[in-house]
Amino acid sequence: MFSEKSARVRNLVIGGDAPVSVQTMYDDTLIGADSAVILERISRLALMGCDMIRFSFVGRDDAPVFTEICRKSPIPVVADIHFDYHMALLALECGADKVRINPGNIGAKWKTEEVVRAAKDRGAAIRIGLNTGSLPKHDEGEERGSVMVRYALEYLNDFERLGFENTVVSLKSSDVDTTVEAARLFHSQAKYPLHLGVTEAGSVVSSAVRSTWALGNLLRDGIGDTLRVSINGSLEDEVSTGVEILRTLGLRKSGVRIVACPRCGRHSFDSFGFLSKVENRLKMLDMPITVAIMGCQVNGPGEAKNADYAVTGYGTKVFLYRKGKLCREVNEENAEEALFEAINEG
Ligand code: SF4
Repeated sequence: MFSEKSARVRNLVIGGDAPVSVQTMYDDTLIGADSAVILERISRLALMGCDMIRFSFVGRDDAPVFTEICRKSPIPVVADIHFDYHMALLALECGADKVRINPGNIGAKWKTEEVVRAAKDRGAAIRIGLNTGSLPKHDEGEERGSVMVRYALEYLNDFERLGFENTVVSLKSSDVDTTVEAARLFHSQAKYPLHLGVTEAGSVVSSAVRSTWALGNLLRDGIGDTLRVSINGSLEDEVSTGVEILRTLGLRKSGVRIVACPRCGRHSFDSFGFLSKVENRLKMLDMPITVAIMGCQVNGPGEAKNADYAVTGYGTKVFLYRKGKLCREVNEENAEEALFEAINEG
């Protein structure tokens, strides 16, 4: 069972019976940024399956672009705050749908209380975000996951005393076992929704492996209500990895399933180069279809039979299949457009 309580972040419900959501975090400063460019990127991420996006909010100069993004983003917007509670208040004024704070580094308790009251007034949510890299005071011997859970429960009680329950909790660590143990312990003791993530998980490969292991095990046991796959890479990789984890677990049905051969010395069609070009475009399609991208005739026609659309090569030609039947023969440079034309035609 996922969390008993739920939180509402604009129109997105986290926890309870709601589907597990995927989020990412913008990777650059907002100062001097072009909001139109960022909004266009958010729209593409939303089409890929991203449900929410977070921004570092570090100073007053972030406010103009952040306000514009909050007003126009198709998905809820979160402000990530550290140390200065004024920034949380300002981000809420700008229209943040949620603020992520660590009450342990905000300073005096009354400062956190100010943030909670402001979020309550504005109908915004709060994520209590704890991380083993910045743990509050604890005994030397105390296990780090237990420390995070202990403080999270204490902060939740403080919030409840102010009549605020629109809260999500995250307990992150770069260590997979600590992440899993903390999440299990929290889930056994609290009813609030849990944001899952292995933090600072490294490159696409290491992060995908660690996150799939940790998050997959938790989600399979009904623990976790929203997730971020933290990658030293692109936002698009974060979102597609998160969506893929959910799809693999059967927790998300929509979107294109891609089958692709690894490419070997027999290839006459560069399945690797072609997939790199079309992958994000395919992932923006909200269609329950399978697309196979195969390098040659060894397994190409066979996979094409089991896919809705397939591309494979022979000699200098690229063959396009629809529902297992050969429908077009094109040159490699026309293969991308031919595939999307076929998909759009249905
Ligand atoms: Fe190699 Fe062809 Fe198999 Fe791709 S489909 S891995 S190119 S044999």
